[in-house]
Amino acid sequence: MSVIIDDTCITCDACMQNCPVDAIVDDMSNPTGESRYYVHPEKCVECVGIYDDPQCAAICPSIGCISWDMPYTREHEEHFVSNDLYTISSTKSGKLKSPTLREKKYREDIPLEMRGVGKEVQEEPEDLNEVG
Ligand code: SF4
Ligand code: SF4
Repeated sequence: MSVIIDDTCITCDACMQNCPVDAIVDDMSNPTGESRYYVHPEKCVECVGIYDDPQCAAICPSIGCISWDMPYTREHEEHFVSNDLYTISSTKSGKLKSPTLREKKYREDIPLEMRGVGKEVQEEPEDLNEVG
């Protein structure tokens, strides 16, 4: 996924409003059925080339809610296809938008040992006042 939202999400909508690639959906559209916002792994680009940090984590008021995950690459295909945490979208022809089909950019400066559910993207949001 690259980043993932956990169950401390308060559904405030700030991340969805600030994602530059529309990778985030709200709780009503969360394909896992959980009552939290959801990052589509096949869409998230970790804000590479757009912002210095993942904007969703920078603006999220629930500290620690958004954590790193594996890069969305072929190397981690199995992680995304078989993990219960995700529901990978399908193309119109029914093929999963798995890393095999759709590798995404990721922050190569974040080592694998710093990634994983619960590994905080940021210790604190950059500016709580930005949350509307
Ligand atoms: S890291 Fe960037 S691209 Fe990925 S979901 Fe967050 S805001 Fe969107
Ligand atoms: S900004 Fe954080 S708390 Fe708000 S909807 Fe997104 S993940 Fe949930």
